[in-house]
Amino acid sequence: AKTLGKNNVQFYSTELSRVVHQHWLLEANLSRAIRNREMVLGYQPKVDLRTGRVVGAEALVRWHSPERGVVGPDKFIPIAEQTGLIVPLGDWVIGEACATLRSLATLGVVDFVISVNLSARQLRQRHFVEHLATTLREHSIAPNALELEVTESQLMDNPAAALEALAQLKALGVRLSIDDFGTGYSSLSYLQKFPVDVIKIDRSFLGDVASEGDAVIARAIIALGHNLKLEVIAEGVETREQLAFLQDHECDQMQGYYFSPALPQDRLSSMVCNDVRM
Ligand code: C2E
Ligand code: CA
Ligand code: CA
Ligand code: CA
Repeated sequence: AKTLGKNNVQFYSTELSRVVHQHWLLEANLSRAIRNREMVLGYQPKVDLRTGRVVGAEALVRWHSPERGVVGPDKFIPIAEQTGLIVPLGDWVIGEACATLRSLATLGVVDFVISVNLSARQLRQRHFVEHLATTLREHSIAPNALELEVTESQLMDNPAAALEALAQLKALGVRLSIDDFGTGYSSLSYLQKFPVDVIKIDRSFLGDVASEGDAVIARAIIALGHNLKLEVIAEGVETREQLAFLQDHECDQMQGYYFSPALPQDRLSSMVCNDVRM
């Protein structure tokens, strides 16, 4: 048994060094990837459930790696967060989203909102708000055309600090949304204090809205949001049944594969300019 134990230790340390090495490689490649412009934003359309019109989009980052092909954010955002690379990456995402808003405005599209995902580390950065204000000004973007999505768990990590950061962002005039709502441990008293505009129902609550268990939570979140005078958007909508449920319960917006996955910027532009309706 002792020998086995020793082998196990060896196995784990080899495995560990392999993981560490891969992590290091990914980290080195990631900073190069940002410099080499291998990052690409996809835009998933958001649909107004009353009018059926595309009224906004969520920017989702992908890495077009020459060696690995298209790498999804779940693979590299956690590493970018740990290493601090999320700060330059996040700045790039915001700049790119603003450039897309500007190009849409040039095409005559107004009242369109693009949301970007924000990590807690960006929110904690000193001068984040001033920096954001400069980026908006440089692209001549009205602050309320940009929405920042922050997850509930990131906010609840340090709610007092989050509250202060959100208040400054709200004063700047950007829209704020709580992502993955219902999946973290949230405090309802904070929900009321956070100056947010939107809550996003996590797709895990839409699983099977035909079953009473899932439906009751989704309904409760919509009612809670509306009672707090917030807009409610459902994400991960994949079926006709989910859509009908959301319309019945007066959810405000939806996004999901049922309507469209994330699109390249030019395809988003033609969709919005042709005023495609659901
Ligand atoms: P998220 O913000 O919750 O984004 C929603 C994810 O669900 C996206 O995956 C999207 O492509 C996927 N999705 C959309 N519609 C459907 C659907 O109908 N069914 C299913 N099953 N999935 C759907 P993606 O693009 O892989 O992004 C994963 C996560 O990576 C995001 O989760 C977000 O937390 C993070 N992320 C993406 N872009 C950024 C970014 O620029 N900055 C930061 N900090 N995080 C990002
Ligand atoms: Ca999001
Ligand atoms: Ca989400
Ligand atoms: Ca998520």
